[in-house]
Amino acid sequence: MNKYLLTPGPVPVSGGTRLAEARSLIGHRGEEFSELFSRIETKLSRLLKTDGKTVIFPASGTGALEALAANFIGPGVSVISVSCGVFGDRFREMAALTGADMINVDVEPGEEVKPRVAAAAAASNPDASVMLLTQNETSTGVFNRVDEIIAAIPMETRPLILVDGVSSVGAMPCFPREWGIDGLAAASQKGLLTPPGLAFVWLSERGWDAVSKRKCPSYYFDLTRQKKYLYKDAPENPYTPPVSLYYALDHALDEIADEGWFSLKERAARSLAAGIEALGFELLVRDERFRSPGVTAFFHPSGETGAILKSLKSMGVEPAGGQGKFRGNLIRMSHYHDVRWPEISLALGSLYAALGGARRGAGDFMRRAYGVWEAK
Ligand code: PMP
Repeated sequence: MNKYLLTPGPVPVSGGTRLAEARSLIGHRGEEFSELFSRIETKLSRLLKTDGKTVIFPASGTGALEALAANFIGPGVSVISVSCGVFGDRFREMAALTGADMINVDVEPGEEVKPRVAAAAAASNPDASVMLLTQNETSTGVFNRVDEIIAAIPMETRPLILVDGVSSVGAMPCFPREWGIDGLAAASQKGLLTPPGLAFVWLSERGWDAVSKRKCPSYYFDLTRQKKYLYKDAPENPYTPPVSLYYALDHALDEIADEGWFSLKERAARSLAAGIEALGFELLVRDERFRSPGVTAFFHPSGETGAILKSLKSMGVEPAGGQGKFRGNLIRMSHYHDVRWPEISLALGSLYAALGGARRGAGDFMRRAYGVWEAK
């Protein structure tokens, strides 16, 4: 059966990107690879508005987070972990595993992290040297305004800010240098519209300075070693890179380079949300400003969300279910890929069918969603 993948990673990858991935392999110590690598670095700096380079290595998003944890955190380091869901909790767990002294700040899953909450935690823990944040909490579809959170913490008392951007980079603004992020982790299989397998780490000057003063207990994840290869005249990876994924990424970065890409993501999210609500579902994230441009989480008040998800899957339409406290009673539908009206109408039409929409009198959903789409 032809499946329409709507999980929040991996996401549907374009035909052009798949073709690029299929190109013949080249050696990773030659000029051609360095050129490919440099081209990708230029595109990433444009996307992230950075000047420094981004470390790229083969791993999933967890690998990128592990690299941050291994290089910045260790026994006795005081870490403020601000979590509003499953992925914030995971980042916390990774930090705790290094033997750090954890200060945990919990926000109710489904709600966003308020700047004053993070700022208060920093103010009352002046000895903390690191703060962990999640830009897009994929388990709930919450889009945290990381820029506003960081801005609320005065520079003089600001710990090093490490951000999980695994499900945000590529699909929503993430400008680490402008915003004052010190360590950013990302992955290929969501907003970057590339197959899974590549991890990304960007560090600020303050971040590089901090990691250069520590001994990283991991060989593979040692960012200082990565940096040496990255900043060669002809950049390389210290170990064997998955060259095919670099081809794919090089192509996919062009697809999201358009200036209107972020607003297209928001527009699709708003239109889809309007249709979902008009069908009688409830959106988990109440405040529109904090709804993710990449993934929308919702449930049906009847309590039949699990059965509706099952029915969708039987049609070949595949969103993800809930995680953590929402396991079994949430649908998470992603829109990281090139979603426009045809894709929105397919998703809504399938939801209508899975819901038994006619029986429930949910008839106005397409007009409502199309109205929002048209309004832009
Ligand atoms: N952080 C966030 C916010 C995520 O969405 C995910 C993946 N869903 C991860 C971390 C873990 O990434 P991966 O599965 O690629 O290791």
